[in-house]
Formats: sequence, C-alpha cells, structure tokens
Amino acid sequence: MSRPYWNETLETLPAGQLRKLESAALQKQMAYVYATSPYYRKKFDSVGLKPADIQCQEDLAKLPFTEKTELAQTQREGELIGPNQCASMEDIIRIVGTGGTSGQPMRLAWTQNDVRGYNEMGARALWAMGCRPSDFVVNCFNYSIYAGGVTDHMAFETLGATVLPYGVGNSRRLLDMKADMKVEKALYSTPSYAIRLASVAEEMGINLRDLNVKKGFFSGEAGMQVPGYRERIENLWGMEAHDLYGMAELGVQSAECEHNTGLHFSGAGEVIAELINPDTEEVIPMEHGQIGELVFTNINREASPLVRMRTHDYVEVYTDPCPCGRTGFRFHTRGRTDDMVVIKGVNIFPMAIQKTLLAMQPRLTGEFQMVLDKAPPIDYLPILKVEVASGQPAAALPQLTEDVALQLYKQLGFSANIEFVKAGEIASEHKTKRVIRNY
Ligand SMILES: [Zn+2]
Repeated sequence: MSRPYWNETLETLPAGQLRKLESAALQKQMAYVYATSPYYRKKFDSVGLKPADIQCQEDLAKLPFTEKTELAQTQREGELIGPNQCASMEDIIRIVGTGGTSGQPMRLAWTQNDVRGYNEMGARALWAMGCRPSDFVVNCFNYSIYAGGVTDHMAFETLGATVLPYGVGNSRRLLDMKADMKVEKALYSTPSYAIRLASVAEEMGINLRDLNVKKGFFSGEAGMQVPGYRERIENLWGMEAHDLYGMAELGVQSAECEHNTGLHFSGAGEVIAELINPDTEEVIPMEHGQIGELVFTNINREASPLVRMRTHDYVEVYTDPCPCGRTGFRFHTRGRTDDMVVIKGVNIFPMAIQKTLLAMQPRLTGEFQMVLDKAPPIDYLPILKVEVASGQPAAALPQLTEDVALQLYKQLGFSANIEFVKAGEIASEHKTKRVIRNY
C-alpha cells in the first residue's frame, strides 16, 4: 500500500469543515458527560453553565479544567475508574493501568467505541511516521502498567503491521532474539531504552547494526528533537528513528511525517486541543509559533472521557503548511511543566540539560538525572547524575567534571554538583525519570 495517509478525509480536511464536524460532536459529548457523571455536572454547575452553552471549541474556555491528580486521588480512595466514569461496566471492555509519568498511576477504561477511536488515531500517527503493513514491530513497552503496551500494540495491528509483544525486562534475551530473527525489524520503545540496549549489546559483544532493525518508533519521552539525540540512536542502530507523542488518557497520538516538521496532531474528529498559558490559565490562540501547555477534550469517548484535561506538556505549535498535506496543527514538546525545575529564578527543562550533555559526546552518553532534596526555588542543583561513556579513564574524570560544570553554567546559567555514574545506569527500560524529588 503506498497511500500517503491512513485516513485521508480527516487528516486533510480543511479547518472550516473540521470545525463544523467537531462542534457537533462536542455538543453531543457535553450533553453525555453532564447526563452520566455527577463530577462533570458539578464542574458545569460551578460556573453556572449547561451543556447547551458549549457549542464550539472557543466555548470550552468557559469550563474548569480537569487535572489528572483529581482522578488519580479517587482511584487511590478505592474507585475502580473514578468520577469521570460515564459508561456502565456492561459497556466497558478494557481497563488499562498507566505508569504515571508524573507519579500518578491511573486506571483508564475503554468501551468498544473507545478502542476503535484509539486504534484509529494510533494508526493515523503510526502511518504518518512511516509504519506500513509490511513492518514487523517488536513492542518493548510494558504490557502491564503502561498503556503503550496493549493499546499501542492494537494500533499497530489496526494498521496491519505485524507485532511481537515483548514488553520490558531481559534485554539480553531481547538482543539474542533479534539476532536470531534475520528478517528486517522495527523497534517500538522509549528512546532511552534504545540507548540502554546499546550498553547491553556492548557487554554481549553484539553490534546493533547487525540486528537488521531498520526503523525505530519512539514514544514515552520527549527529547527526540534535541540535536544529537536522534542522530545518536540512528547511528548506533543503523536505523531511521521516528518520534511519537502519545497521551493514553486521551487516546491521542501524534507523530512526525517524513518531512520532520514537528508532530502532526492526529486527533481530528476525536479530540479537541487547546493551548493555554500554564500560569494564567488563559487560552492562547493555536497559531504558528505560539508556545503553551496542551489541554485536550475527548469528543467521542464513552468510558472515562476527559474534558479540558491539562497535560502539563509545554509545546511550540506550527500551523504553516507541511508538504505532506496534513491540515492539522503540528508541535514540538519542550518538556513537561511538572519536570521543570526553577534554579536561580530560571525555568530549566530537562531537555535543555540533555542538549548540553549530548554535545559532550563521546565522553558522555547524554543520559542524566536531577535529584532534588528540597522544593524549588533553589540556587543550585544539589545532585546531577551524569552517565560517563564507557572507556573513559578514571584519571580523566576531574577534568570532565569541570567541563560539564562549565558548559551547564555557560549554556543554562546554573551550577550543579555533578555525580558521574556508569553508562547504562540511568537510561531505563521504561521511561527514564529525569527529576527525582526527595521532598
Ligand atoms: Zn507532514
């Protein structure tokens, strides 16, 4: 199949037509959540609105936000799904647990229709990033506590690709198996797992380039657009690496097309996106070059729909035409607002540190972790763990410490206590935590 889109109609729909279609779905969805969830009814009542007051995307700004923490809290108190459950157990067919990037593990529920919607959006994104029915994908996401396991597996199947469910753990066996299967393969994992596998392969005496893994689909972590990161993975594996942004709670996926112009939002007809200023909470127009936090609303979800859910993902938006012809907006993630650390009054995103450290290859791997013992604002970073590339002599470390400190100060304007660790110690099989908060 050589068609350029998974769903040509929705992915290339002119903005005016999409708006009409989405306004109708939004009206229906608002009536649905109001009728089925006392939690959402309370949100409407708190601002004196009825579902009929929400006619189009701009009207959403009148409603309060939904925070993941509110929902996670009720699950900890014993609820299976939480107050945003709108469908009965009779209609719910799947519960998926998420690992919780922000320390908030959550259970999500799905009806048949919700699974259809997720698979549809997933297939759009996967197709955009070059996945085709002839691909053989080894899925290295956790199948038990991470939505990227089962749900993304289903999206690959929907597209028609062949998927091998591997999950996480036992990296050595994975590499052995990949070596055994001579056929051309694709890897689906976090980007940092692809880096971690490089350390394991080195210990095993395996050259990743011999494994015939030609495509890498990466999700779960931001940073693929950091200069040097993608190239490093591509060089290690001899593959083409593609970036995918997924938000399991919403069921929305976004991916880069072959022109690498940012992540194409794949939620047309299923999810409405808004951009807000995370501090003032005011809506920012979704226009080219604008920067803000993404907020999403499901307009076709039944089991546990979300209305104005704050993602805490800080993005830059692009709306100029992409040569591929997709009409929705595109974006690059800059980082998560809850991973942001304020040092000496300056907002530092982990991606900025990553960029600085990646520029110091081959002495460093580029992997790192911040450890905070007290809540920001802070004047310096008490512990910055930094992976040293294998083969660096111990005698070179004092100079390397000085160099890292100098670069961080020069590029980002802050000081840190640097603690070196061995290659492969920080990059994890799952999602690599960039900020550890011990307070
Ligand atoms: Zn494109």
